[in-house]
Formats: sequence, C-alpha cells, structure tokens
Amino acid sequence: MSKVINLNEWRKQKSTESEFAPIPGFIIWLHCPKCKSTEYTEVRMTGGRIHKCGTIVEEAEVAIDVRAEFTIVQRNLEILKGPDPFNQGKKFKLVNKLLGNTEQLVQKIKNNEIEYQRRLQIISAEKITPYPQEWIPEENGIEYIIVQPNGIMITTARQADQHFPKKQ
Ligand SMILES: [Zn+2]
Repeated sequence: MSKVINLNEWRKQKSTESEFAPIPGFIIWLHCPKCKSTEYTEVRMTGGRIHKCGTIVEEAEVAIDVRAEFTIVQRNLEILKGPDPFNQGKKFKLVNKLLGNTEQLVQKIKNNEIEYQRRLQIISAEKITPYPQEWIPEENGIEYIIVQPNGIMITTARQADQHFPKKQ
C-alpha cells in the first residue's frame, strides 16, 4: 500500500524547512594597500574599486550563510544586554579607569553588531528569521572566535585578517 500524503501536512513541512534554510550571500572585504585601511561592504562590484586616495582597492569575497551570520549577531546582542563586564566588582575598577568611558566602548561594540545585522538584511531579499535556539554554529560549519570581555562571537567571515592574511 502506498503512503498517503496529506497535502496540507506536506506544505506545512516544506514551509518550516524553508524558514530555516541557509541564505547564501557574500560580504566583500576591501583593503587599501596605501592607507592600510580595511572595511567590509555588502555591495558586489565588477571592475574593481578605487579608494579615496586613488589606489585600487584589494577585494576578498567571502561566501556566507546570511541566516547563520544574522543568528550569531542576534545572540551577541543578547549577550551585550547582560551586565557590563567592566563594571563587575573592584577588580575591574582599574581597567575601567584605564579605558575611560567603558559604556561608550560597549555601545560601540553594540553598534558594530547592529550595523552588521543591517547589512545582512540588505543582502537577503526576504526578512531574516534567526535559526532556532538549538542551532549550533560549529555543527553547521560556522567557525568563530570568542572576543572578551563580553564573550561575543565573531565569525571567520568577519575577521578581516583571515581574508588578507599577509597584509595585517
Ligand atoms: Zn587608500
């Protein structure tokens, strides 16, 4: 006897699958050999780019799963909502003094995350839903480093030195 396929069930399953499918995309790292400046863009451009100093910019295209990057940024923003690690106890008072306004520093980290998420949303044609809580980056081939003091995750795609190894 053949298996009866319930069309509604099938559709439901399909839509759940596609909700969490990887979204292929690219970010492009740009390096100016003259200014030694490095930045990223979501804008792909054929024929190269000229930096404001007049030098041809070196480019490194990095293939990403937009949903994976988005999910990790989302998790970073959750971490950044937590208590400021600079302000926990006496031990950090000195560090605090040395760094000056740490609130500003944390805000800067937050802004970087928000900006990256904004760019990812531009790359994706659809509104990005993060992967569910049980999704584990390393099980899906996503490598990252953990950056202290907050413990946020920075994926390989975001590490400029991985894409211009000799120039950093
Ligand atoms: Zn330049």
